[in-house]
Amino acid sequence: MPKNECVIEYYLEGTMNCHWDLVLYEWVIREKNITSYLNTHMHQVFMKSDSQIESIFAIQLGTEKSFILSAPLFVDASGDGLLGELAKAKLRWGREAEVEYNESLAPKVADEKVMGNTLFFTARDTGMPVPFKRPDWAVEFPKESDLTERGHSFFKGGYWWIEVGTPYHPINDNNETRHEALRQLLGVWDHIKNQDCKTIPKEQTASYALDFVGFWPYKRASRRIIGDYVLTQSDVQNPHQLHDAVAYGCWEIDIHVDGGILERSKQPISEGNVWQEVGTQVYGIPIRSLYSKNVKNLMMAGRTISCSYLAFASTRVLSTGSICGQAVGVVAALAKKYKVTPREIAKFHSSEAQQIILRSDGHIPGVENTDTNDLAKKAKVTGSSHLKLHFPEPNNERELTMPHAQLFPLSGDFIEKVELLLTSNRNIPTKIKLGLREAAHVWDFRSQNNLALVEATIPANSEGWTSFNFRKQIVPGKLYYVHTVGKYPGIFWKGFREDDGKPNQIPIGTSAAVLPDKTPFSEKSTTFREIFSSVELKDIPGAGTEGHWKPLTGGRSLCMRITPDSTPYQPGNIIKGTNRPDMWTNIWISDSRQTLPASLELGWESLIEFNTIQLTFDTDQNRRVVLPLFRYPDCVKDYMIEYHNGISWKKLLDQTDNYIRRREHRFDKVKAFKLRITVLATNGAATARIYEVRVYNERV
Ligand SMILES: Cc1cc2nc3c(=O)[nH]c(=O)nc-3n(C[C@H](O)[C@H](O)[C@H](O)COP(=O)(O)OP(=O)(O)OC[C@H]3O[C@@H](n4cnc5c(N)ncnc54)[C@H](O)[C@@H]3O)c2cc1C
Repeated sequence: MPKNECVIEYYLEGTMNCHWDLVLYEWVIREKNITSYLNTHMHQVFMKSDSQIESIFAIQLGTEKSFILSAPLFVDASGDGLLGELAKAKLRWGREAEVEYNESLAPKVADEKVMGNTLFFTARDTGMPVPFKRPDWAVEFPKESDLTERGHSFFKGGYWWIEVGTPYHPINDNNETRHEALRQLLGVWDHIKNQDCKTIPKEQTASYALDFVGFWPYKRASRRIIGDYVLTQSDVQNPHQLHDAVAYGCWEIDIHVDGGILERSKQPISEGNVWQEVGTQVYGIPIRSLYSKNVKNLMMAGRTISCSYLAFASTRVLSTGSICGQAVGVVAALAKKYKVTPREIAKFHSSEAQQIILRSDGHIPGVENTDTNDLAKKAKVTGSSHLKLHFPEPNNERELTMPHAQLFPLSGDFIEKVELLLTSNRNIPTKIKLGLREAAHVWDFRSQNNLALVEATIPANSEGWTSFNFRKQIVPGKLYYVHTVGKYPGIFWKGFREDDGKPNQIPIGTSAAVLPDKTPFSEKSTTFREIFSSVELKDIPGAGTEGHWKPLTGGRSLCMRITPDSTPYQPGNIIKGTNRPDMWTNIWISDSRQTLPASLELGWESLIEFNTIQLTFDTDQNRRVVLPLFRYPDCVKDYMIEYHNGISWKKLLDQTDNYIRRREHRFDKVKAFKLRITVLATNGAATARIYEVRVYNERV
């Protein structure tokens, strides 16, 4: 390598590296009441009675110490549910039969088929040619077709589909699985480096070397511990409000081909992104799914929670598992406070648990802040400006080969017209039908009731705004969506996709969706047919006759204009009681045409006393960005808080260099009629954004 020329290291935050561990470690260290036993393995349980754990026995690697740890409550977050197994908690393994929970996607007969375990690798550019010689014992993938539909263009960070399943058992055969997965992994790397790999040109991979190869298979399916409530297909696809919901999920029903890469001639996944049958809604997870039915002091978080196999295929993801962990912590604290079991917390104290979770910046679908101690809720809120609803300029387009929809918040009680930015490649004018519907939630396209249905014509070979005149009285302060009816090949709806790392441009409280074809079961992929029962779309909970609309996630919108203007980002949103978009936008955003600073004011009719202010900023939870040293541009960076004591404004605090979503400021008590939060700078965005402000007078 010539002098002074540096190799740009492959570096992404949070992907196959230690960053997340470090973040968690730091927060555990900060928490004075936690004693952590790292590298400590629990392998024996002592029971007080059949229904109560007394203590666990654990050994610590490295120190050669062993511990007996007793506690009033235990949480099995072991993934494999070993604590539940040893405590003889009611467990479940494999797939239930359709009749057991009335699940249309379940097989007719129960079986033990579960997903397999994966080994990961990372590869690094060394800046010079690096040969790779496949060991004799590794498998071979000579042709591209040997990796059926297993996308491998991103060759630096490993593949989830190097997954080894049936006939290997995820627990009993853990070691054999590791060896088999390693044989497959080295074979895949050999395919990329030496074989007839059509996906990546050899010159791109020539200087890459394996940097890390896992020696511990990452697990998916395992034991589920059964609680008082078992989440099922219906709960994740057509949810209803559960009184004790404390967490949420929304991943699709994601089941992989049985056997994994051992079935290399089959596609690895059910193609969940295409088939409507496996789509879910944002659904609540109740406390009753987070404790064991028969061992009264055992709770669960992560993969072990109480689910049918189909629901598990949606809950078994990182965010959902950890949200359950947070909820379980709160339930445990309340169980200690009231000296009762988690079951009694579910029965008698679930709303207290919910309010604690919301205050800690958790989210529970359909649950709002009702904390009577929150003084902000009694304030009148005003702001220096607020943003109008405005969709970004296009950077792509979508052909209307299937119905498309765009959801948006409307502040007024009348909708005059909607304009869509359309292009026609057709030689004749085309009439397009557009329906208007109400939406219960920002991701919820289940309504099949058109409030209005209008038609407009797009001229031949044209591009421009096409008006759809609704002239319809509507309920203000709600979400609505417009949807094209039918298919219009040759007509394109202009759209926008967020640019990685740039400030968010998609308006908050909007989402786009498509209605894919109802593919007859016989035409579905072999993998899909093997995994799921043969069902009609109408038998899928919540699909109705129309089927499931599929939201286009990851920051996408379709270009539209609405008359009259909608102003859904008003200051009052900060005390609406929810700190994410759900049934409304729930955020204050300053007008982008005015430069910062921008401010919010909370005013009370009489003097109030407080010592705590809690702020929730916007770190765009709709997007996952793993760029190095990334800070969400929409998050407020510098701000100042002042209060007015009836005579003059006084500075309470200055904060600089913030990039964190939830900030809690505690200070000596002050008395005030007004509170002002002034946003001086963001981490890159032109607007100030605040989801929630809470004000408390708390005992210290
Ligand atoms: C290859 C792969 C890719 C995935 N991709 C995604 C993805 O892109 N997005 C996503 O959200 N999810 C993804 N998942 C799913 C997700 O990673 C897992 O479901 C999630 O990690 C489960 O978390 P968990 O804490 O429940 O279990 P685990 O991650 O299995 O953690 C359990 C922990 O308990 C410890 N433990 C077990 N037994 C004992 C014991 N006896 N004593 C002490 N400690 C014990 C283990 O060491 C481990 O640290 C993926 C899974 C795999 C395998």
